[in-house]
Amino acid sequence: AKAQGRGRYQFFTPELNAQVAERLTLENHLRQALERQQLHLVYQPQFAIDRRRLVGCEALLRWQHPEQGLISPARFIPLAEETGLIVEIGRWVLDEACRQAAAWLAAGTPLRVAVNVSARQLGQPDWLAEVEAALARHRLPSCWLELEVTESTLMEDAEQAVRHLQAFKERGIHLAVDDFGTGYSSLTYLKRFSPDLIKIDRAFVMNLPHNRDDAAIVSAIVQLAEALGMQTLAEGVESEEQLDFLAQAGCDVVQGYLTGRPQNAAELTALLATSRGL
Ligand code: C2E
Ligand code: CA
Ligand code: CA
Ligand code: CA
Repeated sequence: AKAQGRGRYQFFTPELNAQVAERLTLENHLRQALERQQLHLVYQPQFAIDRRRLVGCEALLRWQHPEQGLISPARFIPLAEETGLIVEIGRWVLDEACRQAAAWLAAGTPLRVAVNVSARQLGQPDWLAEVEAALARHRLPSCWLELEVTESTLMEDAEQAVRHLQAFKERGIHLAVDDFGTGYSSLTYLKRFSPDLIKIDRAFVMNLPHNRDDAAIVSAIVQLAEALGMQTLAEGVESEEQLDFLAQAGCDVVQGYLTGRPQNAAELTALLATSRGL
C-alpha cells in the first residue's frame, strides 16, 4: 500500500498544491491506520429518559495517530467519504461493533450497538450481504444492531438506499435517522423509511429550554414521531435543565455528556454491570 501511495505522489507531484498534498498525506496515514490497527471504537451510552435504564450505545470511531495524537472523526470521516476509504473503514467499524455487541450478549449483559453508516456504504450493492455476514460471523441476533443514517444520506442515492434500508428492517435491524432536522428534512423520507428511532440533532438541544423556537421544534418532532410510532432520542444533552424539558416533552431516550461520554468498551462493560435491569 505504501508503494502504491508513493506512486501516486510522484504522478501528481508537479500540480500538487499544499492543500492537496496535506489531504493525500492524511489519506495515506488513514489507510495505514486501518492496516496497523490504530483505529478503535468508543461507545456512548444511551439512557431511557428516566435515566435508570441503559437502552443502547453509539459506536464512535477514534483514530490514535502516532505523532498527531487523537484525530477527530469530524476531520477524517469527510476525507474518508470523499476518497471512498470509508467503505473499508465502515466494514471494520461494523465488524468491531458486532464483535463487541456479541461479547456483551455472551456475558449476559446485552446492549444494542448503533453504528454510523455513510452514503458511500449504503450505495454499495453488496452492503446488505456484508452486514449479514458480520452478524453471522459473530452469531449476533440482528436486534442488537442499529444503523444510523443521516437525512442527507437518504436523499443521495434514494433507490439503492430504499432497497437496502427496507431489507435491513425486514431482518429486524433497527434503523435510526441521525442528526434529524439539520438536513433537508423531508417528511416523505420518514414515511418511506419508517425508522425505529429519530435522533434529534444537538443543535436543537443545546439551547433548551430557554430558546422558544428550539423548544417548539423539539416538542413538534417528538409529537410527530409519536404519531408515526417512532421513538425519539435527544443528542448532546449536557444539563439537568435540558433533560427535564425533554422528559416533559415526551422524548424517549437521551445521549450526551450529562449521562455519559463516549468511553472504551471496558468502561461501558463496568457501567453495564450497574445500570442495566429491565
Ligand atoms: P454524530 O453521529 O452526530 O455523533 C455524535 C457526536 O457528538 C460525537 O462526536 C459525540 O462525541 C458528540 N457528543 C455526544 N454527546 C455530546 C454532548 O453532550 N456535547 C457535545 N458537545 N458533543 C457530544 P464524535 O465522536 O467526534 O463524532 C463526530 C461525527 O463523526 C459523528 O457525529 C459522525 O457523523 C461521525 N462518525 C463518528 N464515528 C463514525 C463511524 O464509525 N462511521 C461514520 N460514517 N461516521 C462516524
Ligand atoms: Ca450518529
Ligand atoms: Ca448524530
Ligand atoms: Ca451531530
